[in-house]
Amino acid sequence: MTPVCAKIGGRSDIMKNRSSEDAIKIIESIAKMKARIRKYKEKNLSIALVPTMGYLHKGHLSLIEKAKANTEVVVVSIFVNPTQFGENEDYGVYPRDLERDRKLSEEAGADYIFNPSVEEIYPRGYNTYVEVEKLTEKLCGKSRPGHFRGVTTIVNKLFNIIEPDRAYFGLKDAQQVLVIMKMVEDLNMNTEIIPCPIVREEDGLAMSSRNVYLSKKERSISLVLSKSLFEAKDKVNAGERNLAKIVARIKANIDNESEITIDYVKAVNMINLENATTLENKVLIALAVKIGKVRLIDNIILEGN
Ligand code: AMP
Repeated sequence: MTPVCAKIGGRSDIMKNRSSEDAIKIIESIAKMKARIRKYKEKNLSIALVPTMGYLHKGHLSLIEKAKANTEVVVVSIFVNPTQFGENEDYGVYPRDLERDRKLSEEAGADYIFNPSVEEIYPRGYNTYVEVEKLTEKLCGKSRPGHFRGVTTIVNKLFNIIEPDRAYFGLKDAQQVLVIMKMVEDLNMNTEIIPCPIVREEDGLAMSSRNVYLSKKERSISLVLSKSLFEAKDKVNAGERNLAKIVARIKANIDNESEITIDYVKAVNMINLENATTLENKVLIALAVKIGKVRLIDNIILEGN
């Protein structure tokens, strides 16, 4: 694919600001980001956004690579968004390493990192929030009140700043994907949402920035999550159709590990996240637990007949 700078044509200021054609640029100001985007829009170049909270791993990189394969300009946002964290959650200790993220994003093919400060995004007197109802009352929304309001607000702001043709989200946060899709539909937004599969460690644990906080023992115990979900899928493939039984079995496996506290294990449909009793269409088996102080989520999608 032709590099972005070549498509812009000539020695524009965009070229001058890059040490080499492929070097990634970090932008902290909304005004500067918007100005860059305007230039690309004038040239009719397609723009992709990969929203993240940073401390990137292969899950994030898979989204960036996919974005790069389908879009001319790829912006990765790195912003630990305070409005999606509850009071007693890990906002203050969320892992951060911009230099490492810069290298990884560049290698994966991103053109820009948008890395605004909290004050840039939520200046004094900030008062506007976006809320999707119903879907956000289930699963993680139940145990993390206000979480999705923070997510939809920041994603909305990012969409307004970056005006992406496409935005890439991981199915690791399956509920988030559905909530964002609903927001886009309900508010007639112009961005296409591209859901991407979960990337796992070799032993099955779903990649997460929070995994670094697991002790060696907790890391080893955490395998029960993916193992139980894979076992559920195997059972369905072997003909099991009783979702209640499948969920009960996952819960029992996890309950065997005394260091793990279950928030929820649920079988829900992929449309409105209502409890699923039969294996019709797509069923999401989703779980959230706490291992020590670390909250982990994982899920698997079962295809009905
Ligand atoms: P986060 O930085 O955790 O907010 O995640 C940013 C984006 O990366 C979200 O769309 C996540 O769903 C996605 N993501 C996080 N972990 C994974 C994973 N293991 N596989 C695929 N996507 C992921």
